[in-house]
Amino acid sequence: MAHQWQGVINEYRDRLPFGDDDPVVTLREGGTPLIHSTALDNRTGARVYVKVEGMNPTGSFKDRGMTTAMSHVLQTGKKIVAAASTGNTSASAAAYASIAGLSSAVILPAGKIAAGKLAQAIMHGATLVAVDGNFDDCLRIVRELTEKYPVALVNSVNPYRLQGQKTAAFEIVDELGDAPDIHVLPVGNAGNISAYWMGYNEYAGKTTLASMDETALHMPAVSTKLPQMWGIQAWGAAPLVLGHPVENPETIATAIRIGNPASWKYAEAARDDSNGFIDRVTDEQILEAQSILAAETGVFVEPGSAASIAGLLQAAEHGQVPEGATIVCTVTGNGLKDTATALSTKGSLDFDPIAPTVEAAAKELGL
Ligand SMILES: *Cc1c(COP(=O)(O)O)cnc(C)c1O
Repeated sequence: MAHQWQGVINEYRDRLPFGDDDPVVTLREGGTPLIHSTALDNRTGARVYVKVEGMNPTGSFKDRGMTTAMSHVLQTGKKIVAAASTGNTSASAAAYASIAGLSSAVILPAGKIAAGKLAQAIMHGATLVAVDGNFDDCLRIVRELTEKYPVALVNSVNPYRLQGQKTAAFEIVDELGDAPDIHVLPVGNAGNISAYWMGYNEYAGKTTLASMDETALHMPAVSTKLPQMWGIQAWGAAPLVLGHPVENPETIATAIRIGNPASWKYAEAARDDSNGFIDRVTDEQILEAQSILAAETGVFVEPGSAASIAGLLQAAEHGQVPEGATIVCTVTGNGLKDTATALSTKGSLDFDPIAPTVEAAAKELGL
């Protein structure tokens, strides 16, 4: 019989801080497609794969960290979880809280959340609080809330989040047979780049700043090398590129609209220890990369995700992509979450209807 994917804790439990009898909250996240893109090969001269994290249960990689965070919350006895969110964390937290039988509260920057993500949080039964401020304000509020009340924090400053997210690196090595030469991903709060770096290191028999020592240290190495980590930020929300927090971050890529990343230290370590870099791309480049990926590779991602593709294409233009290198780009979230932004550059959607005949259709199609 074919193996049915069991979710990241059950698939990688011996490399995660969970014992055999610990309860698991899962929607069978992970096991996402790694798709080879001939179109991106042709544009870069490398061998390029996209790790399609929009295929997770709530449509983003956040589910990998939510299964571990939420499973740990069950051990603490707390009944309410809270998260600050640019959208996908709230969608994921609300879904995992619902299957765990917990209540969820999400603190959001007012007016800056894509409609699809908001719909998810509402449908999964979260209590929403909109703040007249940005994501960084929301995170500050949630941190204080969870210090003062019996509420569990499930943002990526919760170390169990990064534990779950590191499994994406394991899957890539399992599929390619070794680590890629370069890994490219969007950077917002910088939890994901830190988690991937941890995952690649642990599979190579090493640990990082973010590792939880009791788990990773005793396992045999699977891979023989480490990738360079290339992080990509949005032009108006690029604190790690500028080297200082950005007070009023601005970008259409709301998932990475963050001015003061919580995992700043870990992200810098990933960049420096891997001989990689963190660069930035404009909103225009992001929208163009989103179109290219959808039209040439069949993968529709949200704008924040397209930053990784835009960053790769920019690096190719700058001559930074080694010929024939194996490159994996994480595309972090599903394009269906934010159709308004995707369609904003595609002109009018008011069609001029034709007569209901095959002749008229054929004429319209130039056949
Ligand atoms: C959360 C998120 C990001 C940013 O990830 P960080 O870990 O905050 O750097 C990027 N893209 C999408 C779709 C996200 O949901």
